Amino acid sequence: MQAELTIDLGAIRANWRALDRAPETGAVVKADAYGLGLAPVARALAEEGARSFFVAQVEEGVALRGILGQRPEIYVFSGLMAQADMPLFQEAALIPCLNSIEQARAWAGGPFALQYDTGMNRLGLEAADLAALPDLGEPRLVMSHLACADESGHPMNAAQLAAFCEMAPVGRRSLSATGGVLMGPDYAFDLTRPGIGLYGGMPFAQARPVVRLSLPVIQVRDVAPGEVVGYGGTWTAERPSRIATVSAGYADGLIRAMGGRARLWAGDQPCPLAGRVSMDLLTVDVTDIGEVPTHLDILGPHQGIDALAEAAGTIGYEILTSLGHRYDRKYTGK
Ligand SMILES: *Cc1c(COP(=O)(O)O)cnc(C)c1O
Repeated sequence: MQAELTIDLGAIRANWRALDRAPETGAVVKADAYGLGLAPVARALAEEGARSFFVAQVEEGVALRGILGQRPEIYVFSGLMAQADMPLFQEAALIPCLNSIEQARAWAGGPFALQYDTGMNRLGLEAADLAALPDLGEPRLVMSHLACADESGHPMNAAQLAAFCEMAPVGRRSLSATGGVLMGPDYAFDLTRPGIGLYGGMPFAQARPVVRLSLPVIQVRDVAPGEVVGYGGTWTAERPSRIATVSAGYADGLIRAMGGRARLWAGDQPCPLAGRVSMDLLTVDVTDIGEVPTHLDILGPHQGIDALAEAAGTIGYEILTSLGHRYDRKYTGK
């Protein structure tokens, strides 16, 4: 029996609608739609009205073209990384975000976008590069990316906005991911690129939750005071305790760092993790609940991806994209 990962496509659609504030709102579906499944997620978003999709790598773009057919625009953030990728771009009609003079020189024709680096120093052309750019014609899109948009008051946002306006005074433009969308119309330009907000994560605090992860209980045992639980014996019973062992662990993306801090839920009742996370198992203190149910939730209404991330010292993005392959995935709310 596998743990059950329920993905609410209706919530993803509602989140896209709620973030649809710019002239056009795209959708970022890189990394298998943040771990939630490229095909079902991209189809739901296309049905909801998304016409421009973004992936990180050309191979993801090829897969997405196969899923969505010829109509939508598909942009590839990493651009033309190797000449050998050229046929992939052309056969799947993918649009590279050209990131350097070298990429621009190597591009053999067809629609393209330009990515500008406006201060993040990660990916894209710098202002000094622009004079040396070969004449490829009009880009389909000029874009940049904000480094600190999860903090709307961060001074870097305004600085990057000003740099973007200077580097890209005209044309079809895109600056904002989820955080930027929430910062209002100055940041909207022609097309936005939300990712995490679609999947229910911060900084979109009003997002509808998308995932629920229910882990089957394999065994329940009584543990006497003074006995220990799990690897390293790091958890010691301080009272007569009941421990439930559930079927999922760090091999399923429930990273070891959440040991001792995250909780599982029996309906409305919290049950703390007891001891270390194993590869395939978690041990949970269920002493304070009545009857132990067949499943305990680690993601759900009481503990979303950001709450679990906080317990693990990470961010919701990493919780989602780490979700493993041993779950029985169910899609609801089509
Ligand atoms: C991942 C990514 C996005 C989406 O960001 P979210 O914070 O998930 O909304 C948008 N643009 C670029 C360039 C990205 O790399």
